[in-house]
Amino acid sequence: MGKKFVYMFSEGNGSMRELLGGKGANLAEMTGLGMPVPQGFTVTTEACTQYYADGEKINEEIQAEIYANLAKLEEIAGKKFGDLENPLLVSVRSGARASMPGMMDTILNLGLNDEVVEVMAKKTNNPRFAYDSYRRFIQMYSDVVMEVGKAYFEKLIDEMKEKKGVKMDTELDADDLKELARQFKAEYKEKKGVDFPTDPKEQLMGAIMAVFRSWDNPRAIYYRRMNDIPSSWGTAVNVQMMVFGNTGDNSGTGVAFTRNPATGEKKLFGEFLMNAQGEDVVAGVRTPQTIDQLAEVMPEAYNQFVEICGRLENHYRDMQDMEFTIEDRKLFMLQTRNGKRTAAAALKIACDLVDEGMISEKEAVCMIDPKQLDALLHPQFDAKALKAAKPIGSALPASPGAACGKVVFTAEDATEWAQKGEKVILVRLETSPEDIEGMHYSQGILTVRGGMTSHAAVVARGMGTCCVSGCGEIKMDEENKCFTLAGKTYHEGDYISLDGSTGNIYGEAIPTVEASIGGDFGRLMGWADEYRQLKVRTNADTPKDAQQAMSFGAQGIGLCRTEHMFFETDRIAAIREMICSDTVEQREAALAKLLPMQRGDFEGIYEAMQGNPVTIRFLDPPLHEFVPTAEEDIAALAKTMGKSVSDIHAIIAGLHEFNPMMGHRGCRLAVTYPEIAAMQTRAVIEAALNVQAKHPDWKMVPEIMIPLVGEVKELAYVKSVVVKTADELIAAAKSDMKYKVGTMIEIPRAALTADEIAKEAEFFSFGTNDLTQMTFGFSRDDAGKFLGAYYDKKIYESDPFAKLDQTGVGKLVEMAAKLGRATRPDIHLGICGEHGGDPSTVEFCHNTGLDYVSCSPFRVPIARLAAAQAAIKNPR
Ligand code: PEP
Ligand code: MG
Repeated sequence: MGKKFVYMFSEGNGSMRELLGGKGANLAEMTGLGMPVPQGFTVTTEACTQYYADGEKINEEIQAEIYANLAKLEEIAGKKFGDLENPLLVSVRSGARASMPGMMDTILNLGLNDEVVEVMAKKTNNPRFAYDSYRRFIQMYSDVVMEVGKAYFEKLIDEMKEKKGVKMDTELDADDLKELARQFKAEYKEKKGVDFPTDPKEQLMGAIMAVFRSWDNPRAIYYRRMNDIPSSWGTAVNVQMMVFGNTGDNSGTGVAFTRNPATGEKKLFGEFLMNAQGEDVVAGVRTPQTIDQLAEVMPEAYNQFVEICGRLENHYRDMQDMEFTIEDRKLFMLQTRNGKRTAAAALKIACDLVDEGMISEKEAVCMIDPKQLDALLHPQFDAKALKAAKPIGSALPASPGAACGKVVFTAEDATEWAQKGEKVILVRLETSPEDIEGMHYSQGILTVRGGMTSHAAVVARGMGTCCVSGCGEIKMDEENKCFTLAGKTYHEGDYISLDGSTGNIYGEAIPTVEASIGGDFGRLMGWADEYRQLKVRTNADTPKDAQQAMSFGAQGIGLCRTEHMFFETDRIAAIREMICSDTVEQREAALAKLLPMQRGDFEGIYEAMQGNPVTIRFLDPPLHEFVPTAEEDIAALAKTMGKSVSDIHAIIAGLHEFNPMMGHRGCRLAVTYPEIAAMQTRAVIEAALNVQAKHPDWKMVPEIMIPLVGEVKELAYVKSVVVKTADELIAAAKSDMKYKVGTMIEIPRAALTADEIAKEAEFFSFGTNDLTQMTFGFSRDDAGKFLGAYYDKKIYESDPFAKLDQTGVGKLVEMAAKLGRATRPDIHLGICGEHGGDPSTVEFCHNTGLDYVSCSPFRVPIARLAAAQAAIKNPR
């Protein structure tokens, strides 16, 4: 028998997520648990992959399987597709392995046409309900098939409401809805050039194909890249018998979480709308009621729902996010999944579940997405400034955090402004999946419509972005890019601030302060530290960054870049003198001016690190970066150096490089000008001796790291300068201080000859920024310009400068680690490229047996957690 591409809900279970997608697997699981689930079937993710393999076609074999399962569903339902006595209607929903807001979500009421709708109107004795369902179907189907966006249809509905002089869509009557259905169909014909399909089977195939297609729309691709979801996974499609929340006042629909997704509080949290269908709650068209109110409106359904919530949470041992519909007082479960939550809620829920005896500490460590922690590490409002500020309005606290930025009105503007370095707040009537990229680039999101479960709220919480939603008081003027609130008009570019924890909106910029790790966060990190085997260091060049990283749990500095110290205004003059010197003496004189400054920098960093290891990397950037470009600076330099302006111009011209990234930088500078390495060594050792004298209990062992080595002899040469200088200083101080000299492995040749390099190097730190650049052969500075095309064409799925390319660059890392250890079994191994804070790379480093990862201060907690998860998954 060939592969099976379609499963009835009763044939699957919760462990089949890869094949059935998250939604399909959970519908099957709930069916197995005997819960009231409208029955249906799931077309598998493999059918989606097959659809693409067949050139975007559903082949005959799969079509036949879909029809066979449709027949089974008709049997279970006792209804038939297109039947004029007892018609079957279904919903069609996408459902990937991981929930993906960028994709097509739902088509409801599929199976309706001009005749079936009449039957439905007669049978239910409720023509309004029938036509409401019909117009929704045409609207959703057209939207996904034509990909025109919801706005167009909303406009027609608004025009109809205006014509009838009503405010709410529930106030439109059967004839109005019938007319809307006609208008929608006319639009479909106009756009597609063919009639709206009347045959339910044709509608079904069209809808399934639309779901498959939506797997590859730009929003979905963007979402996948952001969340490391491979494009090879594909999406499943769920076809489910309709139940109706819009038959009248005994029906309704809602969404609920077993715990509060914003705070983690253990209390049922949700919303519902009477006489409505699924989309209404999420789209924020009408403001819903809270789930508690359901207890009053329909106590039996409410009690049954509460009981099911408890069972589901115990079953999945995690907070659940559920959709339900009540049709004529009868409850149906449409979906359950582990709910998306804010980072703060994730930590509270994990700790509470441990305390409730539901999960182990290990499981708690594994249930937090390390990247999510980022949201907690970012600034909160300065309490004093916040007290002094007066809110201009408030709405729902949809996703916590503090945001301050300039107002923009479209997702495109948000992206564009943010890329120019502006901090922006996106203000929208409501958001939709097309806005994802812009939302990602925003500090915060403010919407006029929508509840706690609206698109904006759900997506913002997932991203860890502050969001305040449903501020109905805002008068929006999208066309002129301004809005009015509390009597004042705010234009594009004006500052506002949002408090996503209280829902307050401020018409001004409010300063923010740094975050700290405490409470549930501290508890969970404590558990993580017990399990991890990798040490976590930080990349820090200043005492302030070093302190920040220490407060986030860094165990040392893995990379202190010294060049920024050279760039500071009071030092650049001395650097320029050094570069333009003609003799060693002149050069040494210029360097002597720098020595005390650099020594002071190192002392500050050593103090901040309190005796923890510090790796100082010697000067790396090419010299031309330091020379002046402004004429007056050139003239000033000429004057101090007693040279002519044209001499200086000639020196600058001589420093020009066609390819600076592969030019005169790294240890090549020290080979040409060993005085620089000598001065830096002196600064490192003297600073360490001074600080050690103040703290006799710290056992300081300075680590000096030589960059951009590709040949053991160049390392040996620079090392000889370092050793000579250091040994003299230590002897003169009558100290027994030890120090280490190591190198970065960031040139492919260094990785290939790591056994030789290890003869000289006491440690290796993988500089995966340069190693990626040189292995791929594309420039770190220019790759951004063309990588977009590579993502579009699916040649690369993620940025190799952010997530380590384990296949290629990773192979070099593994090889170098092995070769290095063969020569020097106790060689200390780490990574200090940007990749050191990326969870998938941290896992790779654990598996490769490195001793530590080093990353920017704000990613230290992320790396700690990722290292623990790697160790739990694969103990070494
Ligand atoms: C690297 O190349 O990975 C590295 C850490 O050094 P830099 O980014 O300073 O070149
Ligand atoms: Mg480098």
